[in-house]
Amino acid sequence: MDVIRRVKELQARSEEWRRAELTVGLVPTMGYLHEGHLSLVDIACGQADRVVVSIFVNPKQFGPTEDLARYPRDEEGDLAKLSALGVDVAFVPDLEEIYPRGYETYVDCTRLPSYLCGARREGHFKGVLTVVAKLFLACTPHLAVFGEKDYQQFLVIKRMARDLNLPVEVLSGPTVREEDGLAMSSRNSYLEPDARPAANALFKALNRARQLVTSGVVDAIMLRRAMTELVEQAGGRVDYVAIVDPQTLEELQTIDQEAHAAVAVFFGKTRLIDNMRLKG
Ligand code: AMP
Repeated sequence: MDVIRRVKELQARSEEWRRAELTVGLVPTMGYLHEGHLSLVDIACGQADRVVVSIFVNPKQFGPTEDLARYPRDEEGDLAKLSALGVDVAFVPDLEEIYPRGYETYVDCTRLPSYLCGARREGHFKGVLTVVAKLFLACTPHLAVFGEKDYQQFLVIKRMARDLNLPVEVLSGPTVREEDGLAMSSRNSYLEPDARPAANALFKALNRARQLVTSGVVDAIMLRRAMTELVEQAGGRVDYVAIVDPQTLEELQTIDQEAHAAVAVFFGKTRLIDNMRLKG
């Protein structure tokens, strides 16, 4: 596996591959890789002839009070994992390579980011879309794989690719979980040891909502109340609990169509998110 740190070098490598009629897959990450990330790499390896995994902690998607400075990093460990999976290139640019002095160009989306995490994290998706657009232009992949764990992010990126006619197929991979159901996340490492056993309350709440829908409950208020109760019993503080249309992300009152549940919960200072299809 080669480690490339310059955009120009990655562009040249991708062009070589494309000239040789090889398909290129990209998996963007912020590093501190876990099985969830690696499952996306597996998908990319199954779909593309050459696979690039980027590792870049993108400051533009963190708010001023968020956890940028303490975001966990382990470049050496990450590179070993990617190399073992047969990844062709790890793209590990430094900050200046992505955002040189005087940087002032952004990509944004207007409606989809106004819900869920976007409503709580001002400018978050603008930062995500900007870096993903830059990664697409650096890597020129035929396909890119994102996790359903960050369901809104996946939708927003898919919308950008469609709206800007980017020649990239945006694929998703299912959420990989710990044994107790907690969705794997680099941020799980922040959890205090005593909060960790309770943190699967997000998964339990989503499952409870799904059970209720299966048993015929159609009132979204009842579902949200049941989910909130479970989270609070576990000692979590709800940031949001939402039942939404899985395509538009608009809040639903009645579950008489496709429905998706999404939750964000604080355990101490650690904010966790998860989501699940309830119907459809
Ligand atoms: P991150 O490093 O957190 O920015 O995540 C990089 C990619 O991995 C994103 O597309 C995430 O949605 C995805 N991802 C994160 N956690 C998981 C998980 N538990 N299962 C599957 N994909 C994940």
